[in-house]
Amino acid sequence: MIPAQFDYQAPATIDEALTLLAANPEHAKILAGGHSLIPAMKLRLAQPAMLVDIGRIKDLSYIREEADAILIGAMTTHYQIESSTLLQKICPLLPECAAQIGDVQVRNKGTIGGSIAHADPAGDWPAAVIALSAEMIAVGKNGERAIKANDFFIALLTTALDSGELLREVRIPKPAGRFGHAYQKVRHPASGFAVVGVAVALQMGSGGVCQSSAVGITGVASKAYRAGGVEQALQDQPLNDQTIAAAAEHATNDVDANSDLYASEEYRRHLARVYTRRAIQAALTRAS
Ligand SMILES: Cc1cc2nc3c(=O)[nH]c(=O)nc-3n(C[C@H](O)[C@H](O)[C@H](O)COP(=O)(O)OP(=O)(O)OC[C@H]3O[C@@H](n4cnc5c(N)ncnc54)[C@H](O)[C@@H]3O)c2cc1C
Repeated sequence: MIPAQFDYQAPATIDEALTLLAANPEHAKILAGGHSLIPAMKLRLAQPAMLVDIGRIKDLSYIREEADAILIGAMTTHYQIESSTLLQKICPLLPECAAQIGDVQVRNKGTIGGSIAHADPAGDWPAAVIALSAEMIAVGKNGERAIKANDFFIALLTTALDSGELLREVRIPKPAGRFGHAYQKVRHPASGFAVVGVAVALQMGSGGVCQSSAVGITGVASKAYRAGGVEQALQDQPLNDQTIAAAAEHATNDVDANSDLYASEEYRRHLARVYTRRAIQAALTRAS
């Protein structure tokens, strides 16, 4: 399990990193926490000729609050998010999701940016950023652009990032009003990855009526997706056991569900419905 030979660069600034990527568009890969890339290189599923290690770029690791947004630098680790008292207060879905990733070692080293850029179909962050209607801020030699979470995940391990672009920041609209969030997951017993993971963000109106909702589901298909059928079924409904259960039935509408040694397609669809129901119920309980 030895990777193919590669060159290693550790730029100190984003500009230096972009210059290295631009000079080696087909052969360079960004190294963040290395928890997905290094195993892939050891298995020779990835053979980049150059690694651009962004771990020494200080401007990429932060959690900040603005008037109407939460900004998280791409190199912020899962553990930093899990343990952020600010996030626990203003957007508890983020620490809740982070706490369910892998184990302590993975959370200490793995980054939100690496996880989102990797787009593992069983990764946890894609479901959470979809439910939070986040934007990914990508930077390249031609400047910056914002990509909506729902447009970011294109296919298995494929995102809207261009080669030569770096994911710099995750920007999340700050939850306001009467909201409730939850992330519920069936962990694979070996890795901890999501067999099914469901993130729910509810915005409640008066009288227990759902004003709007966003539901992100991971683990089921080749990429995380927004469960529009569930959201439509919840819209303007009084939320109770019956309306929630009926909405959750739409969790895998129009989705090609995966089947593997651990979970058949039918079982995954079943889990998606059950965990969507549970996540909506948990989010409703927390809506204050
Ligand atoms: C044992 C184990 C258990 C795990 N369990 C889980 C789990 O339960 N849930 C879960 O979600 N994940 C899990 N993971 C994955 C973990 O969360 C990784 O941290 C994550 O997938 C990748 O993040 P990283 O920082 O390590 O990125 P890396 O491995 O360094 O990079 C991953 C990919 O993203 C690219 N990349 C990295 N950063 C950027 C950037 N800023 N801009 C553009 N491209 C970038 C790299 O070039 C590479 O292609 C597990 C990993 C291991 C080893």
